[in-house]
Amino acid sequence: MQRNVQKFGISDKRGRTRTSTDPYLAEAGIKEPAVCQTCQAVYRQKRWQLDPVMAGKLAHDHAAHWVTCPACQKVAEHYPEGILTLRGSYLWNHEEEIRNILLNAAERISMRNPLERVISIDRSEQALVIETTDNKLAEQLGRALQKAHSGELQIDWQGSPVVCRVQWERWH
Ligand SMILES: [Zn+2]
Repeated sequence: MQRNVQKFGISDKRGRTRTSTDPYLAEAGIKEPAVCQTCQAVYRQKRWQLDPVMAGKLAHDHAAHWVTCPACQKVAEHYPEGILTLRGSYLWNHEEEIRNILLNAAERISMRNPLERVISIDRSEQALVIETTDNKLAEQLGRALQKAHSGELQIDWQGSPVVCRVQWERWH
């Protein structure tokens, strides 16, 4: 576990340099406290959190600001910063298991940081493509999958804002 924490720490740093160019993270402009009208995430002390109790309180507080959080904006405008593409015959033989691993990992991560979320999972004939609001999330999902099912993983960070493209494949 410790090793993973460190690994994620490294991508966190990359993520932070990315925030300055992320067009959706104009956090300076959001007044606190704020609640996302779509997902009910709460913005306080410069961070977004899932806190249903607080969201409930703020719903009755006229000082609260109703906004759309960066993740819900990315979902609405279909703006992925992470793209995970899965291929190989092994994938189709274990598709349900693999989908569950990815969804469970994504849920765990989204609970900690509501801005890291899966936008879509699309199945084509050759590939399963998972798009995420956050570039780190694509990497984390790829690593979770490789940890559980081996396979070959390629991780590529490029562009501005940085998009993380992750390819995973396993044929046997
Ligand atoms: Zn939201």
